[in-house]
Amino acid sequence: MRKHWRGYAQYLESVYSKRVYRIGLDAGFSCPNRDEGRAGGCAFCDGTGASAMYQRSGESSFTHASPFDEELSKTAPIAVLSLEQRCSSLKDQIERGRSFLKRRYKAELFSAYFQAWTNTYADVATLKALYDAALDEGPFTELIISTRPDCITDEVLNLLKGYKSRVSKVWVELGLQSSNPQTLKRIGRGHDADCYILSAKALHSRGIGVCTHIVVGLPGETQGDFKQTCLWINKAESEAVKIHNLHVCGGTRLYDWYAQGEVSVPSLRRHVENSIWILRHLKKDIVVERLICETPNHRLVAPRTFPDKSAFLSLLEKTMEERDVWQGDLT
Ligand code: SF4
Repeated sequence: MRKHWRGYAQYLESVYSKRVYRIGLDAGFSCPNRDEGRAGGCAFCDGTGASAMYQRSGESSFTHASPFDEELSKTAPIAVLSLEQRCSSLKDQIERGRSFLKRRYKAELFSAYFQAWTNTYADVATLKALYDAALDEGPFTELIISTRPDCITDEVLNLLKGYKSRVSKVWVELGLQSSNPQTLKRIGRGHDADCYILSAKALHSRGIGVCTHIVVGLPGETQGDFKQTCLWINKAESEAVKIHNLHVCGGTRLYDWYAQGEVSVPSLRRHVENSIWILRHLKKDIVVERLICETPNHRLVAPRTFPDKSAFLSLLEKTMEERDVWQGDLT
């Protein structure tokens, strides 16, 4: 139980009386930001679409001690599957994910988490077929859809609203990354921060929860920028956040900049300081779902010396305890 910020496990237990585990899914989407004519995706995107590691069967031989594998990191083309193949793959992924989570954590409750790529980037009939295919493999406690803030249309909103009768809560995870327009341009996000506010408002009007993703330590950003991004998240009334430390993966533009010495990544000490600063500027009722990236080592160029998640969270908590500071105490 975390005392200095509102942790995710704590939130789930308070609502559902026990931990709910996400089954991360790759439904075969792509991303508008990687389409021809765009900037070639976000500078930090490594072409895995942030899919769950346990769903990437081709990488199962890698361990925590594996070195960075340059060859593997070269962007694999997105496989083009028929809708039928995608639905069938979802069923397999759910079966695999559920048995993995039961075996490792003795999990009892599950949420369907459309995690990889931009999960609203298709016509509504396709989206419905894919979401239905997953939910038919339930029961699921929550439906969680990860997407970009510029990929939320009225049709998508109405479709998602309809799933509120099938699960206890529908969430949309919106990638904001930063509220600074120069940063968004530099990293090639292809959207502005205003569309994030508009999408959050539209989701809330349908009773859909919002979780906001941000990256801390993006090139050129200072604590002033982090504070501004927190104000933006507070203004959007986002119910949850995922905070990622800047990390460099192979096969990305960020890797080229890093290799040329143009950018650096925050050290552990700096990420602790940045995390505290951000937590203090976020409203205290916002659920903090993540505070550190967990990119597998064989895909990670830097940083290579961070401790595992639980050691990082303990260090963060101890530091906040010593300083007597809390989530939201500077809002
Ligand atoms: S929006 Fe997501 S999937 Fe698309 S390029 Fe950026 S990080 Fe990659």
